[in-house]
Amino acid sequence: LIQLYQPLNFLGFVYREFKQALVDMEQMFALLRRPQEIEDRPGARVLAAQGAPLALEFADVHFGYDAAREILHGVSFRVAPGRKVALVGPTGSGKSTISRLLFRFYDVTSGAVRVDGSDVRELTQASLRAAIGVVPQDTVLFNDSIRYNIGYGRPGASDAEIEQAARLAQIHDFVVRLPEGYATRVGERGLKLSGGEKQRVAIARTILKNPRLLILDEATSALDSATEQEIGIALRLAARDRTTLVIAHRLSTVTDADEILVLREGVIVERGTHAMLLAHGGVYAEMWAAQSEAAAHGADLHMA
Ligand code: ATP
Repeated sequence: LIQLYQPLNFLGFVYREFKQALVDMEQMFALLRRPQEIEDRPGARVLAAQGAPLALEFADVHFGYDAAREILHGVSFRVAPGRKVALVGPTGSGKSTISRLLFRFYDVTSGAVRVDGSDVRELTQASLRAAIGVVPQDTVLFNDSIRYNIGYGRPGASDAEIEQAARLAQIHDFVVRLPEGYATRVGERGLKLSGGEKQRVAIARTILKNPRLLILDEATSALDSATEQEIGIALRLAARDRTTLVIAHRLSTVTDADEILVLREGVIVERGTHAMLLAHGGVYAEMWAAQSEAAAHGADLHMA
């Protein structure tokens, strides 16, 4: 019986995960790494999906994916409503883990993650995720029209609203030059878009969703400088008047952040504005010098 049960159980697991992915594609990026279902507390409150930008707080957060290995060792920071905070640091330092805790894909071991003063464990997961928008590193497109792919950000959006979001995301001019414009089919069985084009579709989708808090997970792959500039404009417009957390791989994209947090092995080792951190002459200043030198030599700017 056990032999029969296990594969069925696994299929059930796959089905549940698959269904969830269809419910909100933005959650997909972390689904496969999620070990167990987190349940809503009885009486959990509903956070309004739309409204003023959210305040965000990590208060002495300790967390590990398993009990034997702690990954975050007491992380504390606040993002005031409408402000932009950037997370920088070497690969494996815990940047993505912070965004997964914010989505409550996992619960903290101790400390708390709060939005507008409420512990995320007191809110329904569905409402928490509806209030947060993500521009992931790598966007998955549906085999459908560009209009559908952008419109997915807010079911019921009008064509004019979809176009307006596309304009802000710097993708409208590209779309109207296509033979079938917004009706052009994209995805695996349609027109293949470049990484930069896909990212702008994701930005348009997120602008349409109009979330109260935005997570930008910057693509690690190097883009040509024109594309990078266009995406930079799109991201700045998407972040305007919105609380924003940027997971950055290129320091050049975070120089305008209200605060930069430098993470190393699960500890915030430095924090401040770009100018403050350069003047401080520590880890960040070293990283900046290394990237500037790499840029001068035309090397890949990706921070290892
Ligand atoms: P990158 O810049 O490469 O994306 P990061 O700073 O976002 O790195 P995280 O993905 O947060 O780093 O990983 C932090 C640590 O947690 C790493 O040591 C990683 O191996 C570990 N880790 C990440 N996801 C899991 C998981 N699902 N299970 C166990 N350990 C994990």
